[in-house]
Amino acid sequence: MNTYKSILAVGSIALDTLETVNGNRDEILGGSATYFAAAAGLLVPVKLVGVVGNDFPQEGWDLFQSRSINTGNILCQDGATFRWGGKYSPDYSTRDTLFTELGVFENFQPEINETDKSTPLVFLGNIQPDLQSSVAKETAAAEYIVMDTMNLWIDLFPEKVKDVFGLAHILLINHEEAEQITGKIDIGDAATALLEAGPDIVVIKRGSDGAYLALGKKRFSVPVYPIEKVIDPTGAGDSFAGGFMAYLSMHNNPDFLDAVVFGSAMASFCVEGFGVETLISATKENFYNRVSTIKETIVMPHNI
Ligand code: AMP
Repeated sequence: MNTYKSILAVGSIALDTLETVNGNRDEILGGSATYFAAAAGLLVPVKLVGVVGNDFPQEGWDLFQSRSINTGNILCQDGATFRWGGKYSPDYSTRDTLFTELGVFENFQPEINETDKSTPLVFLGNIQPDLQSSVAKETAAAEYIVMDTMNLWIDLFPEKVKDVFGLAHILLINHEEAEQITGKIDIGDAATALLEAGPDIVVIKRGSDGAYLALGKKRFSVPVYPIEKVIDPTGAGDSFAGGFMAYLSMHNNPDFLDAVVFGSAMASFCVEGFGVETLISATKENFYNRVSTIKETIVMPHNI
């Protein structure tokens, strides 16, 4: 039997409305926690912390069950599930938020069962930074606390986002967001500034240009898996986090470059279809094939 470490993940559980050049979708399952769970749950045990309204569809619970996700820390409250709408530019290089309806998320206070507070790995998915801090403080004994964020929270509460930097061991962030919060255009300078802000490890995601890993003075670049066609990039960052943390769950002395390769391979499934549809149909065999392909093309490390 495998003895993989569990991951406790907090984030949004949402119904997403998407507009892309390849088609539209209304109220499909989404949210940072949902993507993370669909991704990491392919390989390792995940416990979700979040909130849904009483309109949350059975399909969502079925998805969690299909990945054996522990839903004991998901609150179901009277009211509407969080809803978000996004529209992509024809080349997918930019995305506009069409609407954000907080619903039950507005007054959400994470409640973590006493026994789950000692979960060894914690993912602070994209949610309001105060909520991330409250989960990080309750799970402070974790081996690794890994965080993500988004431009909205950096716009609204930059200082609170920086507070979370001080509580997390590993930061996963987009290139644009890294530039936004550090003011540094150069990726190396942004990574250095982010390392100085708290985390021991920083991974800057660069969309189709791959990911950049900063570990002390060491820097690595990891390419993406070459897919045929992007259909919907929503949740790619959370899927990346799911692959990255699944690797941490499976390895006692992790090689963080390999963890980034797991992240990159997992994200490649996400973008091939709308919502979680292609992520959920990925198999372990396909996943490890993609890991091998990416490893064959890795650029060797260099010191700055
Ligand atoms: P990503 O593409 O990685 O930015 O993740 C997109 C997911 O984040 C979507 O499924 C949305 O439901 C969710 N999302 C969008 N805005 C927010 C927000 N302000 N807080 C939490 N989750 C959000």
